Amino acid sequence: MRSIRLFLIASIVATLILFNFVAALQGYQSSMNEADILFDNQMLDLARLVSNLDVSNASSKDLRLGNDLAFQIWSGEQLLAASNNAPEQALQNFNPGFEYTNFDGYRWRTFTRFEAPLNRWVIVAERTDLRFVLAENVVLQSILPLLLGIPLVGLLIWVIVSHGLRPLQQLSSDLKNKGASDLSPILSADSRIELDQVIESINGFIQRLSTVMEREKRFSADAAHELRTPMSALKVQLHNLSKEIDANDESFLQLQQGVDRMQHLIEQLLSLYRATPEQFANNCKTLDLYKITQDQLADLYPNFEKKRQNIELIGDSSDIEADQFALETLLSNLLVNANRYTPEGGEIVVGIHDLGDEICLSVEDNGPGIPDSEKTRVFDRFYRVDSKDDSSRSPGCGLGLTIVSHIAELHHARVELKDSSFASGSAFCVYFKKKR
Ligand code: ADP
Repeated sequence: MRSIRLFLIASIVATLILFNFVAALQGYQSSMNEADILFDNQMLDLARLVSNLDVSNASSKDLRLGNDLAFQIWSGEQLLAASNNAPEQALQNFNPGFEYTNFDGYRWRTFTRFEAPLNRWVIVAERTDLRFVLAENVVLQSILPLLLGIPLVGLLIWVIVSHGLRPLQQLSSDLKNKGASDLSPILSADSRIELDQVIESINGFIQRLSTVMEREKRFSADAAHELRTPMSALKVQLHNLSKEIDANDESFLQLQQGVDRMQHLIEQLLSLYRATPEQFANNCKTLDLYKITQDQLADLYPNFEKKRQNIELIGDSSDIEADQFALETLLSNLLVNANRYTPEGGEIVVGIHDLGDEICLSVEDNGPGIPDSEKTRVFDRFYRVDSKDDSSRSPGCGLGLTIVSHIAELHHARVELKDSSFASGSAFCVYFKKKR
């Protein structure tokens, strides 16, 4: 994955290094020029000094000047004086001025001058590597602190770039933390010109999405509502028909089952789309989850009894902020599922536990459970687990758990599907925020 931060840091550090390199080259060039002027002046001084030498002295052909300097004084073909390191032959071709030559394994810069009054040539020479060493030292001393400082500069750039990218990270975490149904616009507290446009586009998109979803919701709710009346009429017709024909006729039973299934679907659709978050929030009040669960269990008890299932409620009174009708719908969906998918004689335990910050409502059964691969999908709309047994023929329509998670979301609660504490079966846990 490519990172903007790494790209910025790498390109800024690379630019700095390149800039330093060019500056070093430039510095080296100008240091060399300076060194040339300096050393050439020094050679002129040396030539002047050598001119004053007393050449009558016998030892003047073996003068010591150090390894870096050399000189010769010629009169015609005769060598009058020389430093001890100078060669036998002339250092240069007796052309006045500066030139270069090689001897003694080094490259030398020479300066030749003719002294007309004495009719003699003075040639002084100096090793050129001295100039390079000086120029290199100057450049090294100026560039070394910069080179050594690059890690520190890199660190500083890292901090600055990270700081600069913080609004982008904030935006990314705001988007990541947005709930699946949270279609409110993104507010940027730490506004930046560059990000404002992105935020504006995202908010525009959210706005369009929310309009489409609202339209879809309204359509489903209206359609479900409109279907209710003909469905009730159909039920009445069926009831009347059952008196006239054999009510145990297979086709009649199937027709009745189909109508039941359709009525169930309409009711589920209505409870899914009935309340908007705002309407819902206005209906919320303090409710005892234990008491509501007890009432729901009592209402549904005949279903459990019919299947000879053992149902137990454990826990204590626990207050939560909730909408009563929504909470009852959530409970009834979980309990109906436990009853429906747990075989005859099965065990169901409903628990209400205070976890400190949260109240956990759990519905566990010892039924067949839900395979791991299906665990997230069962919350999808109209999704039903493919099953060979009778349960797949139940009047369910795959909306029950969608409604559970929708209601949980409206309560800022979360739903988790776990394995039950029985040998088999599933456990649906809803974690409500505790009322303070
Ligand atoms: P349905 O109307 O089909 O019950 P739900 O959304 O309530 O729709 O459930 C989706 C699927 O999850 C069901 O078809 C069923 O296969 C599975 N399911 C739900 N609750 C249980 C449970 N307690 N035990 C086993 N399977 C379950």
